[in-house]
Amino acid sequence: MKGEVMRRQLKKAFLIDTIFMAAAVLLLLIANIAMALKNTAAQDDSSAFGFQTSGKENTEKSFLINSENAEKAGVAKAEIYINLLRKDTKKVERMSLEEYVVGAVAAEMPAEFPIEALKAQAVACRTYAMRKVARKLLHSGYERQKVYLCDDFAHCQAYIDKNQMKQKWGKNFTKYYQKLCSAVMATKGEVLVYNGEIIDCLFHAASGGRTEDAREVFGQSIPYLKSVVSRGEEACPKFSGEFYFSCDEFVKRLKSFYPNLKLSAKDIASQVKVLQRTNTQRVKMVKVGNIKISGEKFRQIFGLYSTEFWIYPQQSRIEIRTRGYGHGLGMSQWGAGYLARQGKSYKEILFYYYKNVKIYRVKLKV
Ligand SMILES: [Zn+2]
Repeated sequence: MKGEVMRRQLKKAFLIDTIFMAAAVLLLLIANIAMALKNTAAQDDSSAFGFQTSGKENTEKSFLINSENAEKAGVAKAEIYINLLRKDTKKVERMSLEEYVVGAVAAEMPAEFPIEALKAQAVACRTYAMRKVARKLLHSGYERQKVYLCDDFAHCQAYIDKNQMKQKWGKNFTKYYQKLCSAVMATKGEVLVYNGEIIDCLFHAASGGRTEDAREVFGQSIPYLKSVVSRGEEACPKFSGEFYFSCDEFVKRLKSFYPNLKLSAKDIASQVKVLQRTNTQRVKMVKVGNIKISGEKFRQIFGLYSTEFWIYPQQSRIEIRTRGYGHGLGMSQWGAGYLARQGKSYKEILFYYYKNVKIYRVKLKV
């Protein structure tokens, strides 16, 4: 009987032990799973945001780029490379990111500009390019060649190679080439980042006095593309424009885009009206005959310098006056030139035109 009780007690104790053990194992397991999940979440965060921070204050932050954009040998020390589609030859050229940025700055900003403006442009061009790489925005038809960029300014941003620079600058080639290289190398790898993402680094020649808020163009607010006053742009060759069209030509052009347009070449003044402007005076909507056209579409149809335009129908022709050159979003290049001449640094220029952004350095993921 005693033995039976002992056995029962032992069995009970064993059962309790087992339950405790199982509970302990379960707890450990839960703790491990929680830990693993936390780690995965942390990894997911870093890959989603694509950047890492060391935790130390004032330490430079990096934006990591996939190593497919490196030369195969020695990825750790390798430069970031890009494959550039040349519009004229349809050839894909592989070059280092910094080499590409020199060609982009050469095509996008006059080399006579002050060095700090050229540095700001270098960061802007690099940012524009690396956003496409980071987001894997491949060009259709060139997916296998991993082409994220072309040299067509209407599609990506402009780029010229050394031979084209020689043609453009003539006897000043060496001087300007060295100047641009020093602007690019002084900002090597630097890109603009907002909230963990490389920004959509739009820029234009001249805003006409005030840059545009992205909400007016895209219909939604972008925290870093806000409207700011932009001074000193008047030297831009296309800062203001005058365009003339005969009444017949005016109607013909519009009808080639809108075949159902009802617009008579007689008394155009009563048939054309700007319906809405943005806060910066750019045209949002214009009514022509029986249709409404966006300011941007109207600008494209008539090849105007900007959407900040005024239409003056006259007896036998239409006069259109414009102010500013380009879409007006982000950095004004001629405004950047002015700020540099006022003694502003490239960082001050960038932080003036792009709000709430930080400068990170792109690095290869290894
Ligand atoms: Zn492109």
